[in-house]
Amino acid sequence: MSKIIAILFFVFLWMNSTAQTHLSNTDLKLQLVKEVRGYLIDSLKLNVGEKFYTEFVDTDSMFYYVYVSQKDSVKKVTHDAYIYFGNYPTNAQLKADSFTQIGFDVMVYKTAGTSSAFLNKRLLQYDDLSLTFILIHEAIHRHKYNTGSKILYEYEEALCDVVANAYCGWMSHSSVKNYVDFVYRNEKIYQLINECAEFKITQLDAEKKIVKQLKQGTLFQNDRFNYPINNAFLLRYLNYSKHYFELAKWFVKKDKKIQSVKEYLAEQK
Ligand SMILES: [Zn+2]
Repeated sequence: MSKIIAILFFVFLWMNSTAQTHLSNTDLKLQLVKEVRGYLIDSLKLNVGEKFYTEFVDTDSMFYYVYVSQKDSVKKVTHDAYIYFGNYPTNAQLKADSFTQIGFDVMVYKTAGTSSAFLNKRLLQYDDLSLTFILIHEAIHRHKYNTGSKILYEYEEALCDVVANAYCGWMSHSSVKNYVDFVYRNEKIYQLINECAEFKITQLDAEKKIVKQLKQGTLFQNDRFNYPINNAFLLRYLNYSKHYFELAKWFVKKDKKIQSVKEYLAEQK
C-alpha cells in the first residue's frame, strides 16, 4: 500500500513539473512577444496600431489563403492576389478544388502569422528567431497600412522580409550561428524561386532543392515554404522573392536604418 502511495506521489510530482515546464515555456514566448513589440513600437517607432499581437485566437491555429494562377504562366485569375478564408480550411479547400477542376494551378496556403496580428498556439510553438521574424514582418505591413502607403504588393512583401531578416537576430537574442543559418536558408529559397520563375531550373528541381533546404529549417520555415511547386506557388512567393535582393542591397546601402524604410513607404503615394 505504501509503495502505491509513493508511486502516486511521484506521478503527481512528475505531472506537476511537466505542467510547470509547459506553462513557463509559453510564458517565455509571451515575454519575447512583449519585448519585441516594445522594440517595434518604442525604439523603431513603427505605427503598428492597436492590439498588435496582444490577443489570442483559439478556434484553429492557422489562417487559410487560396492562390490561383493560369496553368501555362504565372498569372493571377482572381481580382486580388489571394482569397482569404480565415480559420475555415474546408471552405478554402472547396474553393481551391473548384478552380482545379476548371484547369487552374492552385495553392492552399496556411499560416500562423497574419497582419491581423493575433496570437495563436502554433505561433508560440515557433522558435524565438522565427517568432521574432514574423512580428517584424507583420509590423512593416501594419505600418504601411496605417500610414496609407501605396507601395506595390510585390515590393511590400519583399520589404517586410528584408527588414525581418535584418533585425530578427539581435531582437530575438539568437546565436550568430542560428541567425546566419536562418537567413541563409530564407535567401537560398528566394533565389531558387527566382531561378524557377526565370526557367533556369524546373519546378520539380526547385521543389527538390527547397525541400532539401527545409530539412534543416525551422518549423516556421517548413510551414511557410513546404508546398508542391506550381504556378500558384510562384504567384504567391514571387511577391517575396522577385524584388528581395535589390531591396536588401538598398537596405544595406542605407545602413539598415528603419527611418529609410519609413521614408521609402511614405514616398509611395
Ligand atoms: Zn506579409
